[in-house]
Formats: sequence, structure tokens, C-alpha cells
Amino acid sequence: MKYTVIGTGFAGLSTAAYLAKEGHEVQVFEKNDTIGGRARQFKDKGYTFDMGPSWYWMPDVFDKFFKDFDKNPKDYYDLIKLDPGFQIIFPEAHTLKLSSDWKEVLALFESYEPGSSKKLLSFMEEAEFKYNFGINRLVYEPGISLKEVCTTEIISNVFRLQIFKSYRKHVAKYFKNPFFSCLTRVPCFIFRDSTSKDSRYVQFNGLFWNKTRYILSYGRFC
Ligand SMILES: Cc1cc2nc3c(=O)[nH]c(=O)nc-3n(C[C@H](O)[C@H](O)[C@H](O)COP(=O)(O)OP(=O)(O)OC[C@H]3O[C@@H](n4cnc5c(N)ncnc54)[C@H](O)[C@@H]3O)c2cc1C
Repeated sequence: MKYTVIGTGFAGLSTAAYLAKEGHEVQVFEKNDTIGGRARQFKDKGYTFDMGPSWYWMPDVFDKFFKDFDKNPKDYYDLIKLDPGFQIIFPEAHTLKLSSDWKEVLALFESYEPGSSKKLLSFMEEAEFKYNFGINRLVYEPGISLKEVCTTEIISNVFRLQIFKSYRKHVAKYFKNPFFSCLTRVPCFIFRDSTSKDSRYVQFNGLFWNKTRYILSYGRFC
């Protein structure tokens, strides 16, 4: 069959790749001069700006995609561990740097608020569960029917996944320190719906876990 794919972001390019793999004839259209969608770059006066993503989140998703084509991301780009992974500069000229060494992250929390490293560990334990549940049970569903989420497994984990709780309140349960609260909510700054003040962001807990434990890295093309 012949297919037309509109857009060359991650979604368009991966759709086109899977369709072509199945033997279809695929044509891809892009309105911009370069491909990549939000993941493209803008270069000016010797500077390169990421137009969207900078962090290599969810490496497992990329690994799976490449594996489906008998390829390996390592053959296309190197992943370079960032240290610090990121830093937040607060208006009070206070900077919080997140080390790539997990022990240093725990020590940082402890230095601000005694006992908070233990809270961080339990926050991350919850986050790990949510991330793995999301990746293994939800992410690869096509998203066309409510039936996909009406499974016994999902329903029985609704409270553990905290689907009906705001992420802001979830973070507040663990950390009182405003800097930590900001740090653990970093994924929201990037993806949140700016029109809503306190929506439900169950997935961000998982993203924070993934980002902090695994992928404070960026890709450099080989
Ligand atoms: C500021 C910012 C920071 C981010 N940071 C991260 C990060 O650190 N890590 C991460 O994993 N993700 C990050 N994201 C999210 C990530 O960039 C997006 O999830 C992803 O790029 C979306 O890909 P997509 O293919 O769905 O859409 P898009 O990338 O938006 O692709 C859509 C494409 O369709 C094209 N198009 C639209 N209409 C037409 C038309 N009529 N004809 C032809 N072409 C058309 C567009 O030009 C575009 O190229 C960030 C996003 C933003 C905005």
C-alpha cells in the first residue's frame, strides 16, 4: 500500500520507518527546511540551540526502536554522561546542581534538610514503579480505546499510580524545602499545560526517576 506521513518529528519518522519495514511505500512531507520537528536545531552566529529536547529521556524506548530494525543506537550516536546532569538557577542567585553521582544527590538533599535523603529514596521507589508500569503497560498501547486502560492490572493499581492526585501535592508530601520541590518538578516545567495550574501529572514522577537515575546524558552523533 501507499502511505503519506505528514511531519518529520519522532512520531512521523518512526511511523514511516515501521510502515516501510512492513513493505509499504511511504512518502514523508515536512513543512520546515530541516527534519526533526521539535527535536531540530537552530544555528546562528556560531551558536547551536536545541529547539526542543536536550535530555535523552527514556533510553529504553530508543533501544527498542533501534532493535526493531536490528540496529543499535551506539552505531549512530554516543551518549555522554553530563555532570552535573543539570542545574537550576533560582531568582535568589542560588544554584542547585544535580550531580550524576547518586550518592552525591542524596548527600545534597541531606545537607539541606536532615532526613530528606530517606524521603528521596522512597519518592524514587514510587517513581520507579510508575515509570516501569507506564513503559511496560501503557506507552505502547495505540491510544484509540478506553478498553486499553480498563484492564484488571491497571484498575488494581490506580491508587498506587496516583492517577487522580496532583503532582504538586504528591511532591509536597515528601519535601517542604522549596528548592527540592522545584527540582523534583523539573519535568513539569517542560511538558506542563501552561493553562492549568495544578493538573495531574502522574507520569512526571516516573520521568524524574528515569532522568535522575539513568540518563543525565546527551547524544553526540558518531
Ligand atoms: C522546549 C521543549 C523541550 C523538550 N525537552 C525534551 C527533552 O529534554 N527530552 C525529551 O525526550 N523530550 C523533550 N521534549 C518533547 C519532545 O520534543 C517532543 O515530545 C517530540 O519532539 C515530539 O515529536 P512529534 O513527532 O510528536 O512532534 P513534532 O516534533 O512537533 O513533529 C511534528 C512535525 O510535523 C511537521 N508538520 C506539522 N504540520 C505539517 C504540515 N501541515 N505539513 C508538513 N509538515 C507538518 C512539523 O513541522 C514538525 O516537523 C521537549 C519539547 C519542548 C517543546
